[in-house]
Amino acid sequence: MNCPFCRIAQGELFAHLIYADDLVLAFLDAAPMAPGHTLVVPRAHVERFTELSEEQAGHLFAVAVRVGRALKEVLEAPGFTVGLNDGVVAGQGVPHVHLHLIPRFPGDGGKSLHSLLPYKRWRPDPELASRLRARLSAQGS
Ligand SMILES: [Zn+2]
Repeated sequence: MNCPFCRIAQGELFAHLIYADDLVLAFLDAAPMAPGHTLVVPRAHVERFTELSEEQAGHLFAVAVRVGRALKEVLEAPGFTVGLNDGVVAGQGVPHVHLHLIPRFPGDGGKSLHSLLPYKRWRPDPELASRLRARLSAQGS
């Protein structure tokens, strides 16, 4: 397995681990955008966000909340950006799902997620909402 996050999960590659359990681990990003920039990843090799099981996704997010609390307390971070790049088109650099927790501080020069793409270019489309409702309904629960 040549995936760096799988290698971290198996203890073959060093990372500053801050949390690990049977399903999920969290470690400091090797190229941090802020102090405490942390990645939360499933232990299993799952390439894409939409390939996570509901159990994996739920636990990943629950651990992210816990890690966020710890970062907030230890760093006194007044806020976070939480993000996930899914797919090469979105800038996913490692093909193993990873949720970024990026502590934010006054004057850090960063912007919001709304700065990723032109804002207010599109309008909500009722036809699209209808198609999506039908698709979700067909998937069941
Ligand atoms: Zn992997």
